[in-house]
Amino acid sequence: MHEHGLNQNCEIEYAASWSDQGLPCGKRAVAECTDCGKAICEECKMECCGDSYCGYCYDYHETHTCVRKPVQSERRSQERSTA
Ligand SMILES: [Zn+2]
Ligand SMILES: [Zn+2]
Ligand SMILES: [Zn+2]
Repeated sequence: MHEHGLNQNCEIEYAASWSDQGLPCGKRAVAECTDCGKAICEECKMECCGDSYCGYCYDYHETHTCVRKPVQSERRSQERSTA
């Protein structure tokens, strides 16, 4: 296993229905969010464009900075072989 020196717990907080405050995930972090730098665990990690993001930043990335455009109606030129 290749460790990156990450020795933190996941910093992602979840909204709890019974509480006003978010509950920290607390699982062992495997990466840091590319945007905000939060420690994120395997379950909270979102990957896009080869980077790791937390949920919030992933949403933002997807909307604003993702180079992989949302699936638009892909136009495929149908080539007809005329004989
Ligand atoms: Zn983030
Ligand atoms: Zn987590
Ligand atoms: Zn992306």
